[in-house]
Amino acid sequence: MTTEHRKAPRREVVDIRRVGGWGSVVYHHVLSCGHIEKRPRATKAPKLACVFCLRAEEVVKTMSSLKTPIKSEVLDDEEFASFETKVQMIKASLASQMNIPIDAVDVAIADEAGILRIRYATIFLTEKDVRKITGL
Ligand SMILES: [Zn+2]
Repeated sequence: MTTEHRKAPRREVVDIRRVGGWGSVVYHHVLSCGHIEKRPRATKAPKLACVFCLRAEEVVKTMSSLKTPIKSEVLDDEEFASFETKVQMIKASLASQMNIPIDAVDVAIADEAGILRIRYATIFLTEKDVRKITGL
């Protein structure tokens, strides 16, 4: 038994399959986790240590320690508030330039990999606004 086997979680043996031909028989022990432990002999033990599960756990641990935080997760309230203020200023500016109410302006925001950007602005014009702007 290797050190790895000693650290590995123990899984129930759900099935034992005899694989291979004469002189090269291997017993595939199907474990409750779905992994297969190969042994030259069929075990009588109800449980076997699953090295694959241990390795999988270690991969998960490594992955989570490597994971770099995504910008949107660290975007703090202050940053968001300043962006909101900017959006409000854009709306106000558009509204005043077109002489329309501020709620007639909508700004579409996109979160591109954690960076907030203004995609486009939509302006809703009432019939009155249309007449006023076009003079028709
Ligand atoms: Zn397993």
